[in-house]
Amino acid sequence: MKIFTDPRLLQHGFIAGTLDRREGPMNAIDRQAEIFIRLGIDPQKMLHLHQIHSDTLFSFSNEAECRSFASASPQDGDGWIFAPAPAAWGAAIVTADCVPLFVWAKDASVWGLSHCGWRGVAAQLPLKTVRALQTKTTAPLCVWAGPHIQSCCFEVQQDTARQFPSQTLHTRGTKTFVDLNTAIGLQLLQAGLNPEDIQFSDKCTCCQPADFFSWRRDHKREMLLSFIYKP
Ligand SMILES: [Zn+2]
Repeated sequence: MKIFTDPRLLQHGFIAGTLDRREGPMNAIDRQAEIFIRLGIDPQKMLHLHQIHSDTLFSFSNEAECRSFASASPQDGDGWIFAPAPAAWGAAIVTADCVPLFVWAKDASVWGLSHCGWRGVAAQLPLKTVRALQTKTTAPLCVWAGPHIQSCCFEVQQDTARQFPSQTLHTRGTKTFVDLNTAIGLQLLQAGLNPEDIQFSDKCTCCQPADFFSWRRDHKREMLLSFIYKP
């Protein structure tokens, strides 16, 4: 099993990352459960969302809240805040070009994970995820943006381009491309994060077909799994 991750996540005590495509599409919760079992994680303790490209976050501060959420059907939303983070709980999202955004404190006291497509980035979901955690802790936060569509491939029409700051846009010939990393980075710096604590995967889901599913490339509903779990 191949998992793309940031070494800092492991160093700070999490099991977390983005699974590559070789295990197949991870749209179904029971497929995800097989992966979690292989990683030694109880799948009953991994939370799921019905993702809708919104800026809605769900917040948990104890085990009872996690249990209650896990026992109901997945709700509409696109991100997680665990603060303070109960041990032995985690959460998953799925993506196919969108950004899986991992946010955590170095002491593992809090963490967040959000599904940031271009709509989520334009709606400032990265900033909202960090701000929500900052209301719960004064610890410095780290961020890793997992594999997603990069500026090499993320061509947009003008109506989409208009929703992004000019310094995130690149033109090649008559085409316009958005650099989601720059757009996310601007929000994280605005939230006061240290530049050295912000890292971006350089993997592009769209032009690296051996490793990733991509909606832009294939137009199939085949999703990659991203998850974070605090043992
Ligand atoms: Zn690319």
